[in-house]
Amino acid sequence: KGTHLKLPSWLKTEIPHGENFSKLKKSLRGLELHTVCEEARCPNIGECWGGKGGAPATATIMVLGDECTRGCRFCSVKTVRRPEPPDPNEPRNTAEAIASWNVDYVVLTSVDRDDLPDGGAEHFAETVRQLKKRAPHILVECLTPDFRGDMNAVKQVALSGLDVYAHNIETVRQLQWLVRDPRANYSQSLAVLEYVKQTKCSMVTKSSIMLGFGETDDQVLETMKDLRSAGVDCLTLGQYMRPTKNHIKVKEYVTPEKFKFWESVGNQLGFSYTASGPLVRSSYKAGEYYIKNIVK
Ligand code: SF4
Ligand code: SF4
Repeated sequence: KGTHLKLPSWLKTEIPHGENFSKLKKSLRGLELHTVCEEARCPNIGECWGGKGGAPATATIMVLGDECTRGCRFCSVKTVRRPEPPDPNEPRNTAEAIASWNVDYVVLTSVDRDDLPDGGAEHFAETVRQLKKRAPHILVECLTPDFRGDMNAVKQVALSGLDVYAHNIETVRQLQWLVRDPRANYSQSLAVLEYVKQTKCSMVTKSSIMLGFGETDDQVLETMKDLRSAGVDCLTLGQYMRPTKNHIKVKEYVTPEKFKFWESVGNQLGFSYTASGPLVRSSYKAGEYYIKNIVK
């Protein structure tokens, strides 16, 4: 009782606008492409797509459909046992569309496809190859599922020509059971990230933690250290926001100051960058961060 938390002012955002934003939005219409930016009603869409002041524009595209075989308790994507089979033309169509946009950095992500023997790894890899063939200048990040720990699948994606391999640990070890689908877990996610580095040591790896589920500071610190030990280069930390009443409750709205604190901890631990703030999402201004901190 009395646990209803009021939305703090720092989580209220402006309606997006800007020329690049409208262009991107237009070119998405008619194409059967799902952007996470739109579907998750991401509050950063203006900043990410806008590419304000010549900043690199970032967009997140979802492949392999919009129905997931898993049901994480924080996520608004629809869960089904047997999603539609993947569209074999999707890698090419997606690549063609993205190559025609004014984006500098694209995040390819997907639902979890536990129904497919390779979890969709080849589909991911083919999308990257098709895109790099047409637009080698666009930086590509793949934000992948854990592929149930199938390292052959992980390897397929890791060697497809992408620039950044991302996989999200989502929360601290102690709250995995509460937050993620039971098929996901802490050590499996760490193993995926570690394996990517072993397979290709020059690969930039990335992960993300949501705060606000009731995790303690010590637990967050432990997670950050574990990610660093797995060789993870880039880290994002953001506030969990409950998508609907059917999703897990927000336990705490972490203050902007606290997010700043985690950023400095991340810097001390040696991440190439730590993007940390209430509205930061895994792909938040990923292009801008990459160009500032990774391209030397
Ligand atoms: Fe899209 Fe990610 Fe930026 Fe949100 S944070 S607008 S999902 S690229
Ligand atoms: Fe959402 Fe990913 Fe979990 Fe599926 S696996 S429910 S898309 S977070």
